[in-house]
Amino acid sequence: MFEYAPAPESRDIVDIRPSYGLFINGEWVEPQGEDRHKTVNPATEEVLAEVAWAGEADVDRAVQAAAKAFPVWSAMPGAERAKYLFRIARLIQERSRELAVLETLDNGKPIRESRDVDLPLVAAHFFYYAGWADKLSYAGFGPDPRPLGVAGQVIPWNFPLLMLAWKIAPALACGNTVVLKPAETTPLTALAFADICRQADLPPGVVNIVTGAGETGAALVNHPGVDKVAFTGSTEVGRLIARGLAGTRKKLTLELGGKAANIVFEDAPLDQAVEGIVNGIFFNQGHVCCAGSRLLVQESVAADLLEALKRRLGTLRLGDPLDKNTDIGAINSAEQLAKIRELSEAGEAEGAERWSPACPIPDRGYWFPPTLFTGVAQSHRIAREEIFGPVLSVLTFRTPAEAVEKANNTPYGLSAGVWTEKGSLMLWMASRLRAGVVWSNTFNRFDPTSPFGGYKESGYGREGGRHGLEGYLAV
Ligand code: NAP
Ligand code: MG
Repeated sequence: MFEYAPAPESRDIVDIRPSYGLFINGEWVEPQGEDRHKTVNPATEEVLAEVAWAGEADVDRAVQAAAKAFPVWSAMPGAERAKYLFRIARLIQERSRELAVLETLDNGKPIRESRDVDLPLVAAHFFYYAGWADKLSYAGFGPDPRPLGVAGQVIPWNFPLLMLAWKIAPALACGNTVVLKPAETTPLTALAFADICRQADLPPGVVNIVTGAGETGAALVNHPGVDKVAFTGSTEVGRLIARGLAGTRKKLTLELGGKAANIVFEDAPLDQAVEGIVNGIFFNQGHVCCAGSRLLVQESVAADLLEALKRRLGTLRLGDPLDKNTDIGAINSAEQLAKIRELSEAGEAEGAERWSPACPIPDRGYWFPPTLFTGVAQSHRIAREEIFGPVLSVLTFRTPAEAVEKANNTPYGLSAGVWTEKGSLMLWMASRLRAGVVWSNTFNRFDPTSPFGGYKESGYGREGGRHGLEGYLAV
């Protein structure tokens, strides 16, 4: 076991204001009500800033600003819109260290991930969709596909800036204008993005950011001036939104929860699979909708694989998210920690066997050690419900048909992983798995050119790639 000296990333590069207003029509404005909420660093419980709580009147103001900007923005030649998007992408790259530190402070994810995964993907997403802005006529949606109007977008806290990029980049490329609501616990990078829009001289009203809690999100998606709703979050809230929008003219895309199977066959390269399993469920503390939270391992190699996996988990370092050596950061909120604890206790109560490596937990902040459960049955809550934390449920199978049966035995269908040396088995599995993404001999790989989205209760519509344009065009 290596010893590591502390290697903290400096936080001097970020300049967090004590208090933030709303970003409407290209300006910072104060909300009409008095309510504010605090956003904290989940690793220390330190209050980072106070953020406005947008009420209905504020949301209305933002939607009107977006509606006013729409005729100009949508009439602009695609090549001109692309210039703004390229400019935003370059500004994100220039400010990527600052944004990575800010994301880590507000969210609790390790700096290694915000720096090496989130931020490069955020910039790549804007670059990618900038490239589409002047080529929409060739995207397969007719000779002159039209934008929809005002997009109301609501995002979760697990990849705050990346989810913003997934939403805003395609919306703007297609000529829509946007009102976006970040999650209550992670508003700061979206507010920094507002500043980037100003730096890029984006016309006022094209992007508006309203902070607040669930009520603000509800006010936004239900506002009659919104033409398109894009939501990423829980299946529960997604259902509420779908119900609210039924019968309206609004176009809706939903990216919801998941309970992905990561399936390891006996012929898989086991050491590589161990890395993929770790990346699949412990990346971002398991706060990943497409996390490989159910490990399905072929019985013949289960004992060997589990031994190697436990050895590997013993080397993961949990602690200060700003330390460049940290593998596992903080749980995003006290609420989420309570949910992870509750489901883990249910796992034990239902008879599964719980295991964690020896892992010192810091005194302050919200933490949960990497955990795995063996002896899990399909009926256990930990096999069926999304835990959204660093908790892996291990099940076994004997035949490929049984693996398919178990993998698909879930109300969700966002992703899956298949580990095998045989291409034929891989393809056989991929054609039977009911999941939007199937990774082969890898896991949690993202690329802006590749569509992402769900089957069943994981939602509908696709984000990313050419497919991602469709949700923002009148087709
Ligand atoms: P959530 O409670 O559904 O919240 C998501 C967003 O919706 C937040 O901004 C939230 O605001 C807002 N919101 C809450 N109630 C609302 C309402 N009635 N109407 C409109 N907006 C409302 O989910 P979460 O707990 O933040 O995120 C975890 C979930 O997101 C997990 O289930 C995960 O699987 C899913 N997720 C899915 C994807 C995907 O691509 N499929 C990606 C990431 C996460 P507040 O934060 O202020 O409550
Ligand atoms: Mg926070």
